[in-house]
Amino acid sequence: MKKILFAASEAAPFIKVGGLGDVAGALPKALCEAGADCRVILPLYSSIPWEKREDLTPLMHFDIRNAWREQYCGVLTKKVGKVTYYFIDNEYYFNRYRVYGEADDAERFAFFSRAVLEVLPRVGFIPDVLHANDWHTALIPVLQDCEYCHREGYGNIKTVFTIHNIEFQGKFDPYILGSVFGLDESKKPMLFYGDCINLMKGAIETAHAVTTVSESYAGEILDPYFSCGLHHILAARQFKVCGITNGIDTDVFDPATDKNIATNYSYETRSQKFRNKKALRAEMNLPAGDMPLLALVGRLTHQKGLDLLRMEFENVMATGAQMILLGTGDAEYEEFFREMQGRYPDAFRAIIGFDAALAQRIYAGADLFLIPSKFEPCGLTQMISMRYGTLPVVHAVGGLRDTVIPYDPTTGKGNGVNFLTYDSGDMMDAIRRAVKLYYDKPNYAKAKANAMRTDVSWKQSAGKYLALYERI
Ligand code: ADP
Repeated sequence: MKKILFAASEAAPFIKVGGLGDVAGALPKALCEAGADCRVILPLYSSIPWEKREDLTPLMHFDIRNAWREQYCGVLTKKVGKVTYYFIDNEYYFNRYRVYGEADDAERFAFFSRAVLEVLPRVGFIPDVLHANDWHTALIPVLQDCEYCHREGYGNIKTVFTIHNIEFQGKFDPYILGSVFGLDESKKPMLFYGDCINLMKGAIETAHAVTTVSESYAGEILDPYFSCGLHHILAARQFKVCGITNGIDTDVFDPATDKNIATNYSYETRSQKFRNKKALRAEMNLPAGDMPLLALVGRLTHQKGLDLLRMEFENVMATGAQMILLGTGDAEYEEFFREMQGRYPDAFRAIIGFDAALAQRIYAGADLFLIPSKFEPCGLTQMISMRYGTLPVVHAVGGLRDTVIPYDPTTGKGNGVNFLTYDSGDMMDAIRRAVKLYYDKPNYAKAKANAMRTDVSWKQSAGKYLALYERI
């Protein structure tokens, strides 16, 4: 049985800030179901809800040396289904208000990365593959390559590094190499890029395999437009880079069993979905009527294509559609959408915040789901909305291109609506096509049925990861 340790800075249902949390929650489960022994290791943040951590079993504690620091490291565990979780406890680093964005993030995640490697022999789990994710755990393949692989027991451990979003690379002042990571100057070329330490670059260089979260994104990041400066590094390492498209946790996101939504429905009973629209409108105090309900759930940042929406907002409202937006992020967008709510009180609601339960009610209640992202490594919201029979309207980029097939009324095939260029006029054209499709009831019903039947599970992709682990 393959032994995999999945190291991530977030994992649902314990802690989720974005898509990485969903992936770390669902992929290990799918890998276990496919026959692997996949375990997950993550920091024990104080923001993990108490009811999710009150029954953790303490295993041990010891001290970790990182440069000149000697820090406490507690290890706790819990098994959920087939997946064993390990939690790294250190109050100084993880008892914080936020998961990310602290001034000492480099030190916090360097501690976590070293703890992951230190824990292995202590808990008696030496994995065949250590799978690190994004910059927070990018130091793991680096440390394995330059330090731990020479230690007894570590020699056969292979590393995989997954890029969930190349925008966040973990760039820090060069002084941290020695004073925070505890690495000497000879390791500088491994981690140095441009004028700083770049953790993602170090992981790309040292991991045995590098993956991205969709096939299209693996190709896109070779282009300077998408690579955020790393295209040269990736081009030289292309032999070990591949894309594996994410899935979603179809147990968590299941309209037939979802406890957060007003009325449960399945593919067979999809005609009942309208009850959720009714309930959502009532909750949002939006008037009833036969107009489509368009939704957007996500981080309010430049990545998500909100500039296009801002530019075309009046035109979107002019289609007669109602719109609900749930998100949190940059103040400029938050303010804009709050202002629009004041201007269009009968048609638009902006809920500024993070609310997983409300997000599920929106997936269930909306007719159309807008994702105009400028770039999208994979994107999960289009898959979640398809699962709930809500048609995604997307910019065909990255994972959105791989998962959303434009509906064609002549063939009756397709599960959404898309536009090909990052252009506000093109986005508006797609929204108008989607609104028109909504009123074309037979075709809308067909597209909705196709969306609900799309395989968005992890099954296929888990098989691809297992094949990759085997290969390395
Ligand atoms: P990213 O990882 O870039 O944020 P993804 O589409 O991969 O985007 O994943 C976003 C995940 O976070 C989805 O599960 C989505 O439902 C959830 N999410 C994003 N913003 C919010 C919010 N404001 N409230 C609740 N859930 C949210």
